[in-house]
Amino acid sequence: MDDSALNYLQNTFGYADFRLQQREIIDTLINAADAVVLMPTGGGKSLCYQIPSLVRNGTGIIISPLIALMHDQVMALQQLGINAAYLNSTLDAKTARQTEADLLSGKLEMLYVAPERLNTSSFLHLLRQIDISLFAIDEAHCVSQWGHDFRPDYIKLSILHEQFPDIPRIALTATADKTTRKEIRKRLQLEDAREFISSFDRPNICYRITESQGNARTALLRFIQNEHENDSGIVYCLSRKKVESTALWLSEKGFTALPYHAGLSAQIRETNQQRFLKEESVIIVATIAFGMGIDKPDVRFVAHLNLPKSMEAYYQETGRAGRDGQPANAWMAYGLQDVITLKQMMTTSTAEEKYKRVEHQKLETMLGFTEITDCRRQSLLNYFGEPLDKPCGNCDNCLTPTETWDATIAAQKALSCVHRTNQRFGVNYLVDVLTGKDSDRIRQFGHDKLNVYGLGKEYEARQWRTIFRQLISRNLLTVDVESHGSLRLTELCRRVLRGEETLLLRKETKLAKTSRKGRKSYNTDKASDSVLWEALRACRKKLADENSVPPFVIFHDATLSEMMERQPENNEQLLKISGVGESKLEKYGEAFLKVISEHKNNKTSEASDTVNETLLLFRSGQDIGTIADRRNIKTSTVYSHLASCIENGELNLDEVIDLTQQDISIIHETLLSVDDGSRKLKPVYDALDGMFDYNTLRCVQAATLPA
Ligand code: ADP
Ligand code: ZN
Repeated sequence: MDDSALNYLQNTFGYADFRLQQREIIDTLINAADAVVLMPTGGGKSLCYQIPSLVRNGTGIIISPLIALMHDQVMALQQLGINAAYLNSTLDAKTARQTEADLLSGKLEMLYVAPERLNTSSFLHLLRQIDISLFAIDEAHCVSQWGHDFRPDYIKLSILHEQFPDIPRIALTATADKTTRKEIRKRLQLEDAREFISSFDRPNICYRITESQGNARTALLRFIQNEHENDSGIVYCLSRKKVESTALWLSEKGFTALPYHAGLSAQIRETNQQRFLKEESVIIVATIAFGMGIDKPDVRFVAHLNLPKSMEAYYQETGRAGRDGQPANAWMAYGLQDVITLKQMMTTSTAEEKYKRVEHQKLETMLGFTEITDCRRQSLLNYFGEPLDKPCGNCDNCLTPTETWDATIAAQKALSCVHRTNQRFGVNYLVDVLTGKDSDRIRQFGHDKLNVYGLGKEYEARQWRTIFRQLISRNLLTVDVESHGSLRLTELCRRVLRGEETLLLRKETKLAKTSRKGRKSYNTDKASDSVLWEALRACRKKLADENSVPPFVIFHDATLSEMMERQPENNEQLLKISGVGESKLEKYGEAFLKVISEHKNNKTSEASDTVNETLLLFRSGQDIGTIADRRNIKTSTVYSHLASCIENGELNLDEVIDLTQQDISIIHETLLSVDDGSRKLKPVYDALDGMFDYNTLRCVQAATLPA
């Protein structure tokens, strides 16, 4: 059977299978019917119109509001050997004329255009003279007057249906809510279109929220150093000043960190954005303004140094991580001061009362989200109307269950302290009173005579601040802005004060340690062979520079990582790797095969030396951490050396790893059941739900399945 869609997917794009509903969407268009598609960022929307454009006769016209994105997409298509172009205001007259000529001659498979162009009669006239395979309306939510991204030109796109009734249309968006969806159908005259709604879950993103007490930056540094040393990431801060200082600080610590905010000149912003796209391991420190229209698939982490204002903002901003589907982290540190600042900002905002109430409500929900002790993903998806029936296993609360404690008495003490001091003081003062601090100010007010003075000595000041934060988050206390952040009691606190309600709060002490072995970003984890990984990245960077494209346009991380695992030796084997299609094979295949074969040759000669050195140190009784430090190699490399010793019988498994017989047989069986000859550990790791780290698995693999 002729399956052109699958042919294009495999040979041109180099992917093995369609994802989610891609197949059905593509077939709908090939059969000349309309579609409305709702898919989260990174879900794979582009293929849904790119493949039908290739399969059907004529040129696919893609309407996109984001000029930078148009350019990137066209560049990526050209790399795949597809004849695509764009028309927008950034082109000079000559190039624009050439593109129009190409369009008329039927050469173009796809043409990207800005929406305003479709409202000009000259362009419509052009379109009437050519064969059109389909119209794709990207970012279709821009048609909604209620949304943030409303564009008047989108409204007029109904003209497509009027003037080209036989050409199939597809409208795509990543914006979730029902009202917008209805509006898209109505305004674009897509009432009869089939609707495809994908889950909004982003399973590869690990959500983590940690408490900070004024030390968020240090926590951020530790997070980046431990888990994202060589990765690209975005750090969001609330203010320009904080953006600047954080970028500077990270730079001082040896990272390439660039600021991005509206106060910088357009030129600096552009340069920083380009560096983020084109270089590797660049961290952008930005206000929330950064991100829209940036389609970088390999952002490995998004970190928030402040609390986002709503769940929508949180989802959107964290969603910029891991568009390539590879593991990514959404990390946030927030503290008492955040809560107070945001509440103050809302109260003092000059917005309309009605609007303010909505904002407030959204902030409350966001705050609630940070404090929950069960699965974050369940709660997040639930907010967007998509219940998830099981905890996800990939968020901080799932990975390191948070303990709660009965804080009723502590809360009563805190609340009475507010009451006894007449609701006139801020957190720091209240904590001083509770812990019985020796202070002139307290004596001045006579608060050392109160029975709450020193009543809370069982906790340290920092613990009390955590308690106050949660009381504010839960609305048992509010922050009075007029009087400099003094705390006031709310209606809700009565039940707690009277002992009618038990209050369970998070135990925070463990929170800073959410990071666990085996949860690192994937490239460092699998880097048993970090030398090859670096060599492949260097090869990609060189080719990217030669072609003036970002590295990910050459190959995604996932493709390199598969090369590393499979170590292909010829074109045929290379083509089997996801992301390698015919055009890229021809352009870059040779270069990458060379890197891999050189690596193999080097390895056989050097390997025995370096493994022997590790073995020697290990036999001399040094532990693995010490060996790694002494040899200045990663612990994962030490394990891989030891694994090869296990493999050739120089060591026994139990000399290296401390496991029960039962553990060994669980891993053993899993290894055998998922074994497909590739020796990949990720499927084993996943099948075991992350119960054992990669190092352990590698060693058991060496004992079970010698290569
Ligand atoms: P969206 O526009 O929905 O944010 P994209 O179309 O940019 O997402 O796709 C996200 C990433 O997933 C891209 O890097 C794309 O190449 C990749 N991708 C899409 N479909 C597939 C597939 N069927 N198999 C493998 N990778 C895919
Ligand atoms: Zn979870």
